[in-house]
Amino acid sequence: CDPVAPSAVTALKELGIEVDVRDDITPDELAEVISDYEGMVVRSRTKVRAALIDKATRMKVIIRGGVGLDNIDVAYAEGKGIKVCNTPKASTNAVAELALGLMFALARRTPYADHSMKAGRWEKKALKGAELADKTLGIIGYGRIGRELGRKARALGMRVIAYDPYITHEDIVPLDELLKQADYISLHVPATPETLNMLDAAAFAKMKEGVYLVQAARGGVVNEQALYEALTSGKVAGAALDVYTEEPPKSTLLQKLIALPQVIATPHIGAATKEAQQRIGDEIVALAKTYLT
Ligand code: NAD
Repeated sequence: CDPVAPSAVTALKELGIEVDVRDDITPDELAEVISDYEGMVVRSRTKVRAALIDKATRMKVIIRGGVGLDNIDVAYAEGKGIKVCNTPKASTNAVAELALGLMFALARRTPYADHSMKAGRWEKKALKGAELADKTLGIIGYGRIGRELGRKARALGMRVIAYDPYITHEDIVPLDELLKQADYISLHVPATPETLNMLDAAAFAKMKEGVYLVQAARGGVVNEQALYEALTSGKVAGAALDVYTEEPPKSTLLQKLIALPQVIATPHIGAATKEAQQRIGDEIVALAKTYLT
């Protein structure tokens, strides 16, 4: 129901699976045809909620190419005997590299510098940046992506601290400590009721003056209104956003946030590398082989 690597479609067919590629199918169209299918492959675009699952009478497996499962009512599907799986490792490096690249871009304002050059300006004096080496990076959510980012950041000479209440690791500190100490903060938590608005006005108030923020986790983990205020007050020196509460972002608040010169915005491209898409495709094929052949 969403785009996957063409090689994966070929490989699925080679397994003897009949494949229909409907990667722009609308929710209404999907509801109409879903009872014909024993398996479905989705990314984040297609929402698989209870009402749709009720119609999926022959479904054996729902494969989510990618990490989060927040677009699928997993417990409901599993209650109906449908296996739900994803490809969690395939995009780890791609997201970690994007987060790191965004930190460099924030520190040196390279997107702004490029825009100003293209507009014919030479703003050398206004573009005094900052360095990553010897700075403290606070990573919120120390799972696959968070730890990979930590490893890369350490190689650059950064000090790495992390907050994650569900794992034990020597880098872990209490959230308040992280907010107080970090020069850069990068979020890598899943979307859960607990992580919703986890960076709100109270959290921003605890941060260092001039902190940089990278949000490539899930929309809603950062309260966008509070972020807007923290940016305009100067508390947060710059923020890079890859995910939003609304995708594509249309609300006035999001338009205003994205338009700020100290914001770098990308359209949910964390996992959008050739390599990650290939790995996701390969994992989808392996899962389909297990559950559909
Ligand atoms: P993961 O499950 O390996 O790691 C998530 C970590 O967050 C876990 O260690 C978990 O214990 C921790 N966590 C859960 N609740 C928390 C809380 N309240 N406070 C702090 N930590 C908490 O997942 P991952 O593969 O590292 O992916 C992390 C997230 O990145 C995904 O859930 C997804 O939302 C996001 N993601 C974004 C993109 C993108 O395109 N921007 C791509 C892939 C994944």
